[in-house]
Amino acid sequence: DFCLSRGLGDVYKRQGHTVYVEALNAYYGQNHAVKNLSITFPANEVTAIIGPSGCGKSTMVRCINRMHEEIPGARADGKVLLDEEDVYAPKVDVTAVRRAIGMVFQRANPFPTMSIFDNVASGLKLAGTRGENMRERVHRSLRAVGLWGEVKNRLNEPGVGLSGGQQQRLCIARTVAVEPEVILMDEPCSALDPVATLRIEELIDELKERYTIV
Ligand code: ADP
Repeated sequence: DFCLSRGLGDVYKRQGHTVYVEALNAYYGQNHAVKNLSITFPANEVTAIIGPSGCGKSTMVRCINRMHEEIPGARADGKVLLDEEDVYAPKVDVTAVRRAIGMVFQRANPFPTMSIFDNVASGLKLAGTRGENMRERVHRSLRAVGLWGEVKNRLNEPGVGLSGGQQQRLCIARTVAVEPEVILMDEPCSALDPVATLRIEELIDELKERYTIV
């Protein structure tokens, strides 16, 4: 039942959660990509990782929500804790980890066949949310990312019909819809123009009131 009880709380009243990375090592076969890294990501703060290409930033981020292990030949050891809960403990449900620790990628990746509404609703559907409750949470998530005014009259149009910056905000709405504790972002603005970048950066700053952001 990893974090599931907290995951159902009111998104606007939540308390922050801290991520502790302790002595993390990550490998791709023989390639030792992250070496003995210990770092704390404080609640309600945005922590940015800066470093040259290939130094292991993306790998570290993917270890936090156990996406690293999905790559064939990849493995990790060490500890990742969400507050006092060990993300790598044997009894932990990996799906619950990824719900609690959401991820936004470099390239906006709306589900190509889905409408704006369904993109945001996708995670909620998997979690069993239905009907009016779902509608309300989709709308609230779109408001939280500042997209509501731009899309409220076209919720049934394809998500991929939006601009690049809007698509990235849609992906952030999809992430916050399932009410995670932590949001991982891997260069979320690198494919965007300066205006869209500024909009996302302002959004990240607002989101830290409710989430831990890496
Ligand atoms: P950064 O995000 O800082 O640019 P990465 O975490 O992507 O760095 O890469 C760290 C190291 O791991 C690099 O040596 C890279 O070549 C290697 N690496 C990254 N992804 C893979 C992969 N899917 N398979 C094999 N090696 C990888």
